[in-house]
Amino acid sequence: MKKGKKLYEGKAKVIFATNVKNLVIQHFKDDATAFNNKKKAKINGKGVLNNRISEHILLNLSQIGIKNHFVKRLNMREQLVKLVDIIPIEFIVRNIATGSLTKRLGIEDGTVLDEPLLEYCLKDDKLGDPLIAKEHIYVFKWATKKEIDKIEKCLLRINDFMIGMFRGINIKLVDFKVEFGRYKNNGKNEIILADEISPDTCRLWDAKSEKKLDKDRFRNNLGNLIEAYQDVARRLGILYEQANITPIKYMKPHSLKFKKTK
Ligand code: 5GP
Repeated sequence: MKKGKKLYEGKAKVIFATNVKNLVIQHFKDDATAFNNKKKAKINGKGVLNNRISEHILLNLSQIGIKNHFVKRLNMREQLVKLVDIIPIEFIVRNIATGSLTKRLGIEDGTVLDEPLLEYCLKDDKLGDPLIAKEHIYVFKWATKKEIDKIEKCLLRINDFMIGMFRGINIKLVDFKVEFGRYKNNGKNEIILADEISPDTCRLWDAKSEKKLDKDRFRNNLGNLIEAYQDVARRLGILYEQANITPIKYMKPHSLKFKKTK
């Protein structure tokens, strides 16, 4: 398989063409952005960790029947994924109120929600990914009712699965953002989970101390982002335990030791 030209460059990832029909390469960069691109930094090793963590989660989701774009990991920063036509909506699932929800509605930070709250944002950087109602999706034909019904069922299953997976390693799944796309399969459009699921796109709190193990460390200048992502990878069992482990930011990506994918 050959890597082709760059098709799209986002804030944290680049998509490259391949010579295989309907397959593309998703490359994870070290770039971190927040507050609608106003805050930017390069954090050495972030892309490597997100590539590996997202692979682990998407493989696990496949095993419970959640169809997604992941095909295989190619190297430390790249994975082969199915080419999809991305639905321009960011789907947010919340279990605990924090972030923009608390700011917008004055809800106390840390309030545990009685049931998962689904929110929809238009994927548009220029507009700052505004929150929209489900009706906007139908009126502006960003997706059909049938597609949204399917996605909502999927969101709740992904949430249930991930709550359990993270609870097992003493992490609270506070909220997350996912994206879906249309994949052409034998001439038919199939809705599949796309993009990534990683500490860049989820809020993860240590179950006991509520220490933030996600991108809020960057957003809120808490520092030690790589150590936190490394902690998530280690708890998920995908990063080898090493005595006196060198913080990833001081390591060359090729010297990181990840467990083999089953
Ligand atoms: P909030 O709306 O509170 O800022 O974010 C809710 C959840 O969605 C958080 O887990 C956050 O990381 C994720 N999220 C929302 N928008 C984006 C985005 O544009 N990029 C990334 N990486 N995550 C997002």
